[in-house]
This record gives sequence, C-alpha cells and structure tokens, in this order.
Amino acid sequence: MKPIVIAHRGASAYLPEHTLPCVAAAHTLGADYIEQDIVLSRDGVPMVLHDIYLESTTDVARQFPDRARDDGRFYAIDFDLAELKTLAVHERIDPLGNAVFDGRFPVVDLELRIPTLSEEIILIEGLNKSRGARTGYYIEMKSPTFHAAAGLDIAAATIKVLDAAHLHHERAPIFFQCFDPQTLRHLKHKVKSPLPLIQLVGDNSWQEPPGVDFDFMRTDEGLDDVASYADGIGPWIPQLFEADGTTPTNLVAAAHARGLLVHAFTLRADSLEAGFKDFESLHQGIFLDAGIDGVFSDFPDITRQFIDTHINADVTSS
Ligand code: CA
Repeated sequence: MKPIVIAHRGASAYLPEHTLPCVAAAHTLGADYIEQDIVLSRDGVPMVLHDIYLESTTDVARQFPDRARDDGRFYAIDFDLAELKTLAVHERIDPLGNAVFDGRFPVVDLELRIPTLSEEIILIEGLNKSRGARTGYYIEMKSPTFHAAAGLDIAAATIKVLDAAHLHHERAPIFFQCFDPQTLRHLKHKVKSPLPLIQLVGDNSWQEPPGVDFDFMRTDEGLDDVASYADGIGPWIPQLFEADGTTPTNLVAAAHARGLLVHAFTLRADSLEAGFKDFESLHQGIFLDAGIDGVFSDFPDITRQFIDTHINADVTSS
C-alpha cells in the first residue's frame, strides 16, 4: 500500500485550520484523508475544532468578554452551538495575539465559522461526488475525560453523527484516533465500532491525557497491549528517530511486527524537526528511512507530490 496523506486540520498551511475553505482546499490538493478534531458544544454538538479552548482561533474574547473561566480561557463546552456559530474563525494566534506561523494566511476576519461535523461531512461527501473522489475522514476525539466530567460522551455524540450520515460501517473511509487508550478500548470492546482505531502516541511531558505513559506504550510490552485494541499507532515524528535526529528507531518495525499501521504527526515545512535540513529530506526520512504508512501534513500537496514521485506502490511493504 502506498502511504496515505492525511491533511492535518485541512490544508492548514494555506487557510485557517478546520474551516470549510481549508477542508475544500485539502480535498483538491490530493489528501487521501482529511482530519477532523472533535470538541463538543455545551448542547452536545460535535464541532470541528482543534482546542477545547476558543481564544486562539476565534474572536470569542471580543464577542463574549465575560465568558472566560477563572483561568482566563474560553471553553467551547461553555457555549451552545448557536453561540459558537457567531464566532469568526481566524488564523491561529499566540497568547500575545501574534500569528503562530508567520508566513501563513493573514489573521483577518473573513466571516469563517466553526463547522459542525455534520456540515463537514456534507462538504466532503459533496466534493467526493462532484470530483469523483473518495477522500476519507480521520477523526480525533479530543479530551474524552474532560468532556465526560461535563456529563458529555464525545464518542457517542460523534458516532451518532456518523450513523446519521450512514458512515459508521466497515467500508466507510474513516479512521478514529485518540490519545486516550480508555476511549479506544471502549470503542473496540463496548461500542464494537467497525472503524479502524489509531492510538496516538504523545510525549509524557504534554500530560495529555494525564497519567498515560507513552514511553511504556512504545516498548514491546506496550505495543503488544496497543495491538489488543487498536489497528495502528500515531507517533510524534521525533519518536521515529534516535537522538541524532535522523537514524530511525525500531518503533516502526516493532509496530509492523504486531500488524499495527504507523501514521505519524505532523509535517510542517515552516517548523521542521531538528536534524533535517529541509522539507524534502524530512519526507525522505519518514517515508524512505523510517517506513511509515501515512502522515499528517499541513502541506498535503507537497506530501502528495513526494509520495507520488518517490514511492512505488508495488515495492513498499506493509
Ligand atoms: Ca488532531
């Protein structure tokens, strides 16, 4: 199988992440899958939004200045769908209000809105029809424990939307991804979801979710356990390489030995991993040296071109 290109939050290098124009761009730029991060509104609607917070990508602080919590942050889960739909989405900014990625789309108000998962499905299914394509969905359930503490079941809400769109079946081009192993075990054993499950592998320093030992998860014993409930792993790109930054670790081989796919995150031409001199050599490192099966990319067009130029589907393993 040729490795897959997963458009990370859409074609987020070119347009504000997770907006419908950004998703449409990813579709036309050759992504095999487009990523949806799911966060619930107060009234339980699955929204496509990267953070459980709103202030980094919307004008919530201007429109609802008195709705921050004591920590100063604005939580999507404190707003109903109708309120979230009034927010203008813009390019990602840091706490000082500066663009996170200097060379990307300007921080302007184009009256872009946070899409619901339902709306995004309508867009992608529509483009699949009009373009004769079969672009898939790569859905991340964000912070399930945080949602559960508010009395909301993010897995159930997400599956309900997929069910309504007739997309919760084994032939649907959809992966589920999550950092929380408990959620994936629940999907596998209790929900018995027919969709493939990807265990994201973070760094312990992120504490997301708290208490999960991702160092252990990458050991033989840890990977044996992951293989009991998931179909693949989603490692952070630095985990693919030794301390020198470019020599592959044995993580991909160890995952493949257990039948696990490896879909790594995240390729950014404007934020290169240490050890790689340019975006091309980073692509060479992850695909030709490390041998991964897919990658999340902010630049789906560049990653598409690399794969189509350098990787022959007939000679790659796994
Ligand atoms: Ca994500």
